[in-house]
Amino acid sequence: MKRQTAPISLILAMGLFTLLLVSCKKDTEITTTTPLTDSDKNALLFMLEEEKLARDTYTYLWEVWQINPFTNIKSSEQSHMDAIAQVLTSYGIQYTILPAGQFADSLLLNFYNQFVTSGSINSSNALQIGATIEDLDISDLEEYTAQSTNETVINVFNSLECGSRNHLRSFVSSIVSAGGSYTPQFISQDYYGIIISSSNEKCK
Ligand code: ZN
Ligand code: ZN
Repeated sequence: MKRQTAPISLILAMGLFTLLLVSCKKDTEITTTTPLTDSDKNALLFMLEEEKLARDTYTYLWEVWQINPFTNIKSSEQSHMDAIAQVLTSYGIQYTILPAGQFADSLLLNFYNQFVTSGSINSSNALQIGATIEDLDISDLEEYTAQSTNETVINVFNSLECGSRNHLRSFVSSIVSAGGSYTPQFISQDYYGIIISSSNEKCK
């Protein structure tokens, strides 16, 4: 007759699994009590790639020009990607981050190709591209925030929008220092005016 007790290796494996579950829970402190709608899920997945567009473009343009705003902002875009990825993970939603310069969304891929081409012509173009990306980010984040009722999603988008306003201030200040100017293409002139005339914010 076979013994009914589980083999020691199975007991160890189960223990390890429980330990992993516990440590995973500790890592993601986001509480996901509200179910995620399809529209929130799509918004998160799209914004993850849009933040990647910012990160990849800034990394590329930093390598070309090595000018100041790109240095800090490119790593900040990585943290924006991480913030969205954390929400997706907490909801158990799978996502793929493609290699640098590759995008699943064809609109974002077109933007990337346009941005690196134009931004490589001269450094003032590069700064304009920086402001354009932040302008686009703020506009999309505003739209997705308005469409959502999920607190977790709204919080992460608000925090990213706060960061993007600081990035926009930084790029525009560099443009102005170099004697140029920026005209908003996605957000309203009013909102742009409010952002540029106010000082840097502390974002969560
Ligand atoms: Zn960002
Ligand atoms: Zn940004």
